[in-house]
Parts: sequence; C-alpha cells; structure tokens
Amino acid sequence: MITREIGLAVRLHKTTFGGHTMHFSLLFLRRFGVLAMLLILGCSIIAAQSNLPTPSQFLGFEVGADRQLADYKQIVSYFSELAKGSKKIEVEVLGPTTLGNDLVMAVISSEENLKNKSKYQDIARKLADPRGLSQQEIQAFVNQGKSIVLVSCNIHSTEIGSTQMVLEWAHSLVTAEDAETKRRLENVILLIIPSLNPDGQLMEVEWYRKYVGTKYEGGRSPFLYHAYVGHDDNRDWYMLTQKETKAVTKAVYHEWYPQVWLDEHQMGSTGPRIFTPPYANPVAENVHPLVWRMVDHIGTMMAWRLEEKKKSGVIYGAMYDTYWPGASDQTGFWKNIVGLLTEVASTRMGTPVEVSPIELSGGTKGLVEYKQQSNFPNPWPGGIWRVRDIMDYERIASDALLEACTKHREDILSGVATMAMDAVNLGSPGEYYRIAAEQRDPVSAAHLAFVMKDGGVEVLFAASEKAYYIPTAQPYGRFVKEMLGLQRYPKVKLVAGPNIVQPYDMTAWSLPLMMGVNVEKVTLPKEKQSNLRELKESDWPQGSVTGAGTSRFIVSHEVNSVTKLINNALKQKGTVNLTGETYRAGGKEFPRGSVVLENVKDIDALAKEYSLDLVGLNEKPNVKMEKVGEFRLGMYKPWVASMDEGWTRWVLEQYEFPLKSITTKDIKERKLGSDYDVIIIPDVSKEVIVEGKRKPEEGEMKYFVDMPPEYSGGIGKDGVKNLKEFVEQGGTLIAMASACDFVIDEFNVPVMNVLSRARSEEFNCPGSLLRMYIDASHPVGYGMPPEVPGFVNQRIAFQTTPPAPEMKRWVLAWYPNESEDILMSGWILGAEKLQRKAAAIAMTYSKGKIVLLGFRVQQRAQTEVTFKLLFNAIHWGATK
Ligand SMILES: [Zn+2]
Repeated sequence: MITREIGLAVRLHKTTFGGHTMHFSLLFLRRFGVLAMLLILGCSIIAAQSNLPTPSQFLGFEVGADRQLADYKQIVSYFSELAKGSKKIEVEVLGPTTLGNDLVMAVISSEENLKNKSKYQDIARKLADPRGLSQQEIQAFVNQGKSIVLVSCNIHSTEIGSTQMVLEWAHSLVTAEDAETKRRLENVILLIIPSLNPDGQLMEVEWYRKYVGTKYEGGRSPFLYHAYVGHDDNRDWYMLTQKETKAVTKAVYHEWYPQVWLDEHQMGSTGPRIFTPPYANPVAENVHPLVWRMVDHIGTMMAWRLEEKKKSGVIYGAMYDTYWPGASDQTGFWKNIVGLLTEVASTRMGTPVEVSPIELSGGTKGLVEYKQQSNFPNPWPGGIWRVRDIMDYERIASDALLEACTKHREDILSGVATMAMDAVNLGSPGEYYRIAAEQRDPVSAAHLAFVMKDGGVEVLFAASEKAYYIPTAQPYGRFVKEMLGLQRYPKVKLVAGPNIVQPYDMTAWSLPLMMGVNVEKVTLPKEKQSNLRELKESDWPQGSVTGAGTSRFIVSHEVNSVTKLINNALKQKGTVNLTGETYRAGGKEFPRGSVVLENVKDIDALAKEYSLDLVGLNEKPNVKMEKVGEFRLGMYKPWVASMDEGWTRWVLEQYEFPLKSITTKDIKERKLGSDYDVIIIPDVSKEVIVEGKRKPEEGEMKYFVDMPPEYSGGIGKDGVKNLKEFVEQGGTLIAMASACDFVIDEFNVPVMNVLSRARSEEFNCPGSLLRMYIDASHPVGYGMPPEVPGFVNQRIAFQTTPPAPEMKRWVLAWYPNESEDILMSGWILGAEKLQRKAAAIAMTYSKGKIVLLGFRVQQRAQTEVTFKLLFNAIHWGATK
C-alpha cells in the first residue's frame, strides 16, 4: 500500500521532470522508503499512545460492515470518549429531543481554537451582522476568524450512513498528525451533529436489529421516525415547531453563526450514487448570488475528489432545487449561509442492495434517462451497494468540504460580511414590517414576531403602541422578505415548449397569510424609531380578566388559544356554552360563537397562560346558547406511517385535546361508539385506510415489501361497517383532505370530488394558498374571518347536491366565483376547476355528523388561520 503510493509519486515526478528525476526518485524511494515506513509506524505509535480507540475498537464490532449499525447512544458514547481523550474535540448538548434523548453536537478544531471558542463565535457573529464596523475592522475579523462549518446528519433516520461515517471522520481528525489535517483544524471549527433526529435513529436501528436475518430485514417500519412529524422534520425550519428544530436553530443563529452548512442525506437506490451541488432549477429569487457561487465551488470540489478516488455516479444540477426554504441548510440560503446538500444512494439500512444495470433509472429533472451527460459524466454501472460505500462517498465529500473551507477561509468570511451588508442595503432605513400586537388573534401575531426572532431575525417592539417592528434593512432581510411576502413560483423551462419545471415541494409559505396575521409595511420618522427596542420574552401578550362577575366569564372565539381554554374547562368539569347570537358585555361586542364559561377554577391564571382577554359577567347572557359537553376523541393511525396523522396529533396536543390513537385492529374489531364520540381520519388515502397499501403513483411499481403481519393490512369491510355504525348511532366523523374520498366512496353522501380523476396536466396545486370564503355562522366556522387563505396541495374540490329531507348539509368553505380571485400565494394550474366548488362541508348522517375538510387545515402546524375548522369540528361533535 505504502510502496504503491510512493510509486505514484514517482510517476508524477517523471512526467514533470523527465528521466533524471525518475532515477533520483527511485533512489529516494529505496533510501527513504524505509524511513517513511518508520515515520508512519511512529505516527501509529503516537496515535496508540493518545489512547483513542477507533470506533470499531471502542464499540466492539466493525463499523461500516454489512448488517452492523451503531445506534445513537453508542455514537454519543464514542464522541464522549474522544472528548475525554483529546483537546481537539468537545461535545455540546443542544437540548433534549422530543423523546428526551440528548441532541449533541461535536465541536472539532485545533486545541488552540477550542480554547478560544467564544472569541471565534464572537467574530462569526460580527461578520454575520457587520453593521457599524469599518472596512478595516471587517478585514481584521476576516484575518483572525475561522471558518465555522456545520455538518448535520441523519435528519431522515433511515438515511443511516452519515451517522456511521462521522465516527470514523471524527477519530481521524482528532488523531491525525499530518500537516494538512493540522492546517485544516487550524482554519476551520467543524461542528458535527451526528443526527438531527436522535429519537428516530434509535427507533430505526432497533427496528433493523429486530428483523435482521428474517424476511423483513431492512424493511420499513410502520412508525413515524420522528414521534410527531416523521420525514417532515426537514420541513420545519422556518416555523420551528419541534424541539430538535428549535435547539439547532438556537445553536446556529444565536450561538455559532456558521458560514457553511452541509446537510447529509440519502436518496433512492436505483439512480446516481451521490448528488453534490450545484443545485437544479428553479433558483430562489431572494438569495444573494454569492451563496450560489461558493455552493457551486465547494460542491465541485466534492465531485472532483470523488472522481479522483474512482467513485462513479456523481451527479449535480439535478433533482434538488433551491426554491423552498423549509429544509435545514436551505433556510440558511436566505440568511447568507453557504448551504450544501449531499444525497447518497441508499441501502436497506445495514443490508446491501444489488442493483442490476437495467434497474438503473433517471426520470427526474436533470436526469431524464440514466446515461452519461454533462452533469453526470461517469455513471455508476450497477452492482452491489453497501453502507460502507455510502460512508466512503460521504467521507470524501466531507473531507473536500473541510479542504475547501480551509483554502477559502478568507473568501468565505469576507463573503458573509459582504452578503450581510448587501442585505442591509436592500432595505430602507426607517422601513419596517409592522405587526400590531392587538389584532384579531393577538397570540398568532405574537407567535409570528417571536418565531422570526428565534430564527435570528432582528425584531423590535414599541411598547407605547403595542406593535412589533421588523426592519427591512437587516442582515437577514432577504429571509424576512421571503417569509412575510407573497410567493410567485418561478416558471423555468428546460426546453422550449409548454412544460415548466415542477416544484419539489410546496410553493407558498407566506406566514402572515398562513397565520392570519395582519402585517403592514410602514416608514417611521427618526424620532419614532427611537421608541423601538429589542423584543423581550415579557412582551408576549399577557391576557386579562375584566368586568364585575367572578363566576361566569365570556371570551371571543376569534383567538385560536380559546380552544385551549375550552378543553381545559371541560377537563376540570366546568361548563362551556357557545353564544348563538351577538352579545354585548363590558363595552365589547361578542360575536356569535363566543365562549361562556362557568365553574372554572384559576381563571386569572388561565387567562394569562392562554393570553386571553375575558370579561366577568354578572348574569347569564340572555341569548340562545349551545352547550359543549365532554367528549372522547380518537384519531385513526394507519400502519402506513402518516405524517399528517403525526402533525395533527401534535397540533391537537398543543391545544390540549384529550386524544387517543385508534389502530387498524381497533377499527376492525371494536364497537367504536362505546369508546369514542368524535373520530378523526387524517389525510390518508382510501387505499391505505381500506387495504393498508399506498396507491402507487403513475408509472410506479405496484410492489410492496411485506410487513410483519401484526403491522399489516387496512380496516377492510368490517372496519368500514364499524365506522358507519359509529356515525349512524350518533358519533361525529371528521375526514381530512384525501380521507374525504374514503367517506364519499363508502358512505352514501350527496357530495362528489370533481377532481378525483383529474390528471396533473389539468389541475396541479402542489401547495399554495387559495382564497376561500367561510360560513362563520356555523359552529365549525365560529371565530373565523369571512375570507381565509386555505392551504391546498391535492386534487380535491367538492360538488354538492341538495340532500334528502332527513339530512342537513352545510357548505362551510367555498372558492370564489372567478378563477383569477383564487390564488393568493404560490402556484396553481387549472384554478378554474375550483370556481364555485366547496372546500369543506358538514352534514348530519342518521343520528351522527360528518365533517369533510377538503384541504390541509393544519398543514405542518403552520396554517393557524384555518386550525379552527378542525378544532371547532371536534367541539361541534360534542355539542348537545
Ligand atoms: Zn433525506
């Protein structure tokens, strides 16, 4: 091995200097080869003396071997072992995960750099926000600073290779004695997050180990690998709802300010072996071009090193675009971070896959057919692909990243400062987004202000007028513009003709629309600017209890958090009534649907906790009222893990609904009415509900790997019958988005989905905000504005017909008459198909009730403006 490498050096010398040199080199080899051997031996003795075991030595099995996987606890224990034995690595705990594990980050650099960690954090922070610094001061920080480089792994827990690779990478970095590694650690502070989703890593490795050696080896698990959001854990990076996203966002935008962030992923098994940037089209409008230039440079360096080491199948400019800001490193684009992504072909966890050459396929943007092309010059020919291969590809890419960030340390640091100042100059001094604290839903307004602040945005507060102010002129101004503005999807064409490049994910994320918050752009004169100060935790709305009454209280239904109060009151056996008409009290007008509470303890504390303004009443309101009773709530949880189920569960728990999950077995075998009053079917397809199998996409193979029998199957005929009986006998069934098709097909209701057979060329709406009108006089619409942006990402539009006399039917939400009024933000094809169609419907069904919510009312816990349709539907089911 050693001789061969020195031999290579000889060949290189020969081409450069000719025959003489070769003769000399051979002599050199003969003479100093032994010396080199001794040197290398010496190094390994030093490494051994440092007492740092390799990952395989420490864990007692060969890391990277087939069917051997280190789980997250082992990974953390190994990093801790390295930190005990070396001053080049520290382990930080960023916070607890959803299930209470430690989310850790290893910090690796030279001993000297780690000793001065806070100094380098400070420099990184100043370069990320260089306002007030002179050019000389910026240059001084560029000279002294280090590249802060974050590498995050395994946010998608089945994408397992990177968690194994970082063990070897960390060992190699802290034990290496060669000049190049030392130089890299002197220039770079490397932050490694071995898993952005530790709970899922543990869950998936446990599932894998349980079935290894059986026919289910390497198969998928029936559970979401993040307790609530599954794969969507990488769709949460601007809304910051989950603990992991919050903890990492704090480390990135409030502590470390990395200039470069690589997120390591895996993709399918039958395409290219690795994707490295440059990215595919379309490109995000608001990102500084310097981001792309450094992304392209580092990505190309990765590809170069991979080719050099004979790794085939490297692709760029395909599949992964930069249009959407929801993913980890991608959110950073708008905050001047050089965000990189690698995607490596997958195995079945620790089990190798054998890919026949005829199975290799493209079919994606940038690689329509699997064959050699300019962005894919060296296709992988097929064969066996193991977790070791994933690790090797990732390791080369990761080392290339470190190399590039060493070589370009000064460019990266000065680039960040340039981008930050350019962003500041894009805004206008004195220009702000103003969010009044007192508006329809003050809690959503506060949430918007605080979530921007948590994301690193500068948010100010004017106490005198109670308003949040976000300056347009600030380093993260591009992010602010993206999140608070409207989206118009950039229509990029790859060839002449009608077809545009389709979006990778959703196309709208206008937070003010999704959250139902009124935001206006204002310009303040200088003297008014001085009233603004930094937003503080204590600026969160406090709530109040006014009025004379001490045992009966009224509160408007407009604030989402009133739902929490209702659920809390019911839990403590209080009385909850909803007004059937407008009522005036304490100088305020309370519209229909306002909440009247009796027998509720600690009302002041609850008002504070939920930020609600209540009025105490001396007497019972003399208006018609409907009583919300106690209820037993269940939600179907299919064996094909559903992210919408997880998100819905998360949102309902946040709003204090007492929720139980109902399994497929329960629905098949039990009398549901004896356990539940209200049942929700989340956004799951008819095929998954009835058969337990996903409907294959157009052109997709109809082949499913078997699941263990206890996790197989759908609710079948028996389950359908039980659900029907449940509703007929007085239960309430709420179907969300695609589950509406199940109800329409299986229950005899006067509704059809006119888009159920539409092809994507006729109607396409991959995730946009569409205008809808709401019937706020129906209990399901209580507290809602008359017009809302609804989040639509599926082919659903209801055509109703007048029902038979024994059935009552209400159109709860409907689309405008004119197609041009429909789109509010994002992109849609075939909007005219929605004209005069319904988006949500309620009806009676024998003694029970059915609610069809034909769009994503709680999309990824972001669309606060339409949460109420779900909340109210549940309470309507409990209304006597
Ligand atoms: Zn992934």
